[in-house]
Amino acid sequence: MSAPALRDAPRVLADLPLAIDPDEVLRFQGYKKGADAPGADVRALLDEALALGRRLMVPRAVVRWVPVARRAGDALEAGGVTLTIPGIGAHWGPVEHVVGGVCTLGDAVERRAAELWEARELPLAAMLDSVGSGAVESLAEHVNDLLCQEGLARGLRVTNRISPGYARWDVGEQPRLFALCPGDAIGVRLNAACFMTPVKSISLLVGAGPEARVDHYFSQCARCWMRDCAYRRAPARRTVHRGW
Ligand code: SF4
Repeated sequence: MSAPALRDAPRVLADLPLAIDPDEVLRFQGYKKGADAPGADVRALLDEALALGRRLMVPRAVVRWVPVARRAGDALEAGGVTLTIPGIGAHWGPVEHVVGGVCTLGDAVERRAAELWEARELPLAAMLDSVGSGAVESLAEHVNDLLCQEGLARGLRVTNRISPGYARWDVGEQPRLFALCPGDAIGVRLNAACFMTPVKSISLLVGAGPEARVDHYFSQCARCWMRDCAYRRAPARRTVHRGW
């Protein structure tokens, strides 16, 4: 089946059913899963920070599908933007589209963490910050899963996400990713150093195509929580969705 032409405008995703993985939060606190067991005091602090985080965060994302106009080595041109991503051809294989995305929790979590810091409530401030970090990772995973579902409906395989500043992709490419998919629709801005505000935000790019490589990094389905996906290749390990 030939893939349909995709040239979507940026699309805001709101009311995302995000939950927070406590193990992921503890990882940001320096705990190694299976090796370190937090004590009762840390567990209580975690519960308090999770409850606070759930009240404060407003998870939203903006995504945009764009056809790839040209590929040459590490360069990938789409939507009038040229991205240079080391090794992308080998990682993704042939892709016909890219999807840029920006996810955020809003700024309420970091504002409350700053207030707690000012009030010298340092353990709770640090734990709340870790809750935000864990939650925004879960949000980015959820968006990756949604894009995988959208791609499958169009006969396209969708790769794992990558972000500027990781896996040898220069953080200086962040403005180009924002040119492809602006974050302003969800209130995410870039500063001169290419950092995003609100801080609990993640920008991402995935590739899509009938022959795209999807399992080069880790098993995409094993960490995906789309319960009813007909294309699942491995059981999900756990969920971040409410109501499962
Ligand atoms: S279960 Fe696998 S194929 Fe289905 S949406 Fe998730 S990652 Fe994609």
